[in-house]
Amino acid sequence: MSPTGFRADLHCHSTCSDGTLTPVELVRLAVDRGLSALSITDHDTVEAYRTAIPEAAKVGIELLVGAEFSAVFEKQTVHVLGYGFSEESDVIKAFCLRHHERRKERNRGMLKKLSQHGLKVDEGDLPSSGTVGRPHIGMALIAKGYVKDLREAFRKYIGDGKRCHVRGDGIGVEETIQVIHEAGGLAILAHPHLSFDERLLSCPFDGIECYYARFMLAQNQKWLKITEERDWLITGGSDCHGDVKPTLYLGSSWINEEHFRKLQARLK
Ligand code: AMP
Ligand code: FE
Ligand code: FE
Ligand code: ZN
Repeated sequence: MSPTGFRADLHCHSTCSDGTLTPVELVRLAVDRGLSALSITDHDTVEAYRTAIPEAAKVGIELLVGAEFSAVFEKQTVHVLGYGFSEESDVIKAFCLRHHERRKERNRGMLKKLSQHGLKVDEGDLPSSGTVGRPHIGMALIAKGYVKDLREAFRKYIGDGKRCHVRGDGIGVEETIQVIHEAGGLAILAHPHLSFDERLLSCPFDGIECYYARFMLAQNQKWLKITEERDWLITGGSDCHGDVKPTLYLGSSWINEEHFRKLQARLK
């Protein structure tokens, strides 16, 4: 039986970053799945909203503007979800541009390392728009027959610390939170089980993504307790990327209306 009532999936990716569904397809799928609200949180871009906003208005679903920013904390990658700023915010646009320049350099570095290992992938083999990252390099490696799937690409070459991985100069978590706040948004620690460091809790986050498709119940409880102690917001989402990650399907994780309205109230 599928759940009824208000459900908001606040974490998914479109073709503007490393998802396989377009923003319009995500909005339509959200309606099909019976979701009441959605946020498309592409990596380091808000480009999805150009087409998602008119579509959401047409099909009648609440759309919360958001993005998932890659950040660095104590040399580890941490993802920070930003919600509630305008998709036209100059602060956010400039920040996304900075990320794109950073990624361009980093991708070049990884392509160079791959070529040193006899794997020829050119910049022209990568998408020419949107946020381009390791999944795209992985797809190019598959297309060229160098690996059979993304798992193998990450395990052998581009996963953290693997032979062709380049970390690049990332932007710090504190600065990322500051930029989100400056743009009038809320900063949420994404999928905390993947990157947890107790010291992160000293950063001025507004909340934690407590509901995530891959959490066990006990993990949910841990994050819920922390948000309660601090009066932080509770968010949740599927982290849907489309076909490439079939287990993270849209609507597989969500928050209820109470938590969604609390988030909106804090934005006012
Ligand atoms: P990047 O932002 O370029 O460092 O790429 C990170 C993205 O790669 C993450 O957001 C995931 O979507 C994806 N990713 C990370 N590890 C793996 C893996 N082992 N297999 C498939 N995709 C992965
Ligand atoms: Fe991703
Ligand atoms: Fe993430
Ligand atoms: Zn994500």
